[in-house]
Amino acid sequence: MATLTIKDLHVSIETDQGPKPILRGVDLTINQGEIHAIMGPNGSGKSTLAYTIAGHPRYTVDSGSIELDGENVLEMSVDERAKAGLFLAMQYPVEIPGVTVSNFLRTAKTALDGEAPPVRTWIKDLRGSMDAMQMDKTFAERNVNEGFSGGEKKRHEIVQLELLKPKFAVLDETDSGLDVDALKVVSEGVNRVKESTGLGVLLITHYTRILRYITPDFVHVFVDGKIAEEGGPELADRLEDEGYVRYQQATA
Ligand code: ADP
Ligand code: MG
Ligand code: MG
Repeated sequence: MATLTIKDLHVSIETDQGPKPILRGVDLTINQGEIHAIMGPNGSGKSTLAYTIAGHPRYTVDSGSIELDGENVLEMSVDERAKAGLFLAMQYPVEIPGVTVSNFLRTAKTALDGEAPPVRTWIKDLRGSMDAMQMDKTFAERNVNEGFSGGEKKRHEIVQLELLKPKFAVLDETDSGLDVDALKVVSEGVNRVKESTGLGVLLITHYTRILRYITPDFVHVFVDGKIAEEGGPELADRLEDEGYVRYQQATA
């Protein structure tokens, strides 16, 4: 079983006024098969954590470590991270003009596995996953994210998860902008992939709503670039009632 370990992570971002510290000592251990929810107010650094795990060049790691089964993730290129089993679903997925969903997925799968998947099983898997996400067949021939609604972008990301089979997925505000039907389909997708592949999930969210459909094993409250409190699913219920005010007052 794989483990993703983050220790005392400090990260800053380059701004016009010089480097600005965002993450201030994050400690987090995720085992495969576990769902960890990171919940926090806007601007607390949640996306910074997601991008840092994925290896976005805009973020500088000042100190601390990220390891996947003892391997130093911070020394890996974005490509190597994906091959090692890390997957990031971005808060704002990018459009890829001229590249169809079908080609994109097949190319990604081929790059990750080092060989092209057999055509017949591939088509069956792709159709099966798109059906499960209630995506029309015609989607496979559309350009990635071009003109997709918010819900369609997120469904497409779950199809990626299901086909690419990472060990760990970071889902950054996968719930934002989804109506309740899309939220259910996307949540069921995450649960299904977790059950079938033993995926470990870092579920980043601002709202508790998605946690009605995806039950986290652990909840981490994220404020001012670090974890302010940790608990089980009951912590999310408390946040639903009380919000983040208590933590923000405590750190102000
Ligand atoms: P969250 O995802 O929790 O809303 P982010 O990680 O997106 O938080 O942002 C964390 C902090 O970094 C915020 O205070 C934000 O204003 C700041 N930040 C992000 N990008 C930039 C930038 N380009 N220049 C200055 N500050 C930035
Ligand atoms: Mg934000
Ligand atoms: Mg964010």
